[in-house]
Amino acid sequence: MVYFIGAGPGDPELITVKGKRLIQEADVIVYTGSLVNPALLSEIKKTATVYNSASMTLKEVMEVICQAVRAGKKTVRVHTGDPSLYGAVREQMAELSRQGIDYEVIPGVSSFLAAAASLRREYTLPGVSQTVILTRMEGRTSVPEREQIEALAAHQATMVIFLSVGQIEELCRRLMKGGYEADTPAAVVYKASWPEERMIQGTVKDLAEKVQRAGIRKTALVAVGKFLGDSFELSRLYDENFSHEYRDKGKNGE
Ligand code: SAH
Repeated sequence: MVYFIGAGPGDPELITVKGKRLIQEADVIVYTGSLVNPALLSEIKKTATVYNSASMTLKEVMEVICQAVRAGKKTVRVHTGDPSLYGAVREQMAELSRQGIDYEVIPGVSSFLAAAASLRREYTLPGVSQTVILTRMEGRTSVPEREQIEALAAHQATMVIFLSVGQIEELCRRLMKGGYEADTPAAVVYKASWPEERMIQGTVKDLAEKVQRAGIRKTALVAVGKFLGDSFELSRLYDENFSHEYRDKGKNGE
């Protein structure tokens, strides 16, 4: 059995209890060195072998994992945030299946959730947006034509863009071209939940310049949408005139 573990966004307390326990029990640990906080590896077994996958190919990672499992070692593959987002985890699962090795995924707190917490905002505001689009601009990995930034921007939903802060100028230009008004609020969260976290707030029009001035080029998310603003409707969930399954006796006793 191999455990794919979401390590969370950075703060070592933002991993699940289950993920933490499995790392502590592991004999072999392969972690994504570029983004996983090394503090998460501070309480591992003295005999554990640790590999940083940053300098390894898929083939090398799979060799280490498969050999460890065959030798009866408890093996964990630690990914940043949640493995299901830009984790390159599916290709590893496919290889394990080919090798007849079972695996389990332990979810993690994705960086886009840590970013909302740092911004102290709710992505889905009534009357503003009820949809969150998680995406990226094409880099070395391409993005399907129908998912180009302009096409997604047309919805003017809440958008969180991964892996793209290095191209912030082009990104903001395309967000506006696609449909966001120039004064739509936008923010960049750099290293959410780490001690060196930074937030830059602005509009789709002026964000790129602010971010470039701050020298932020990687490990950041770009969030766009009116959810960052101050106007919204109250939710029906806590509306005193609105009853639901858990509160079906309204004030008027129906
Ligand atoms: N699986 C991860 C994403 C991996 S892709 C997750 O769920 O968060 C790596 C990208 O994620 C980075 O380029 C950056 O855009 C974003 N990212 C990861 N950790 C971050 C953090 N602590 N703060 C801001 N962005 C982060």
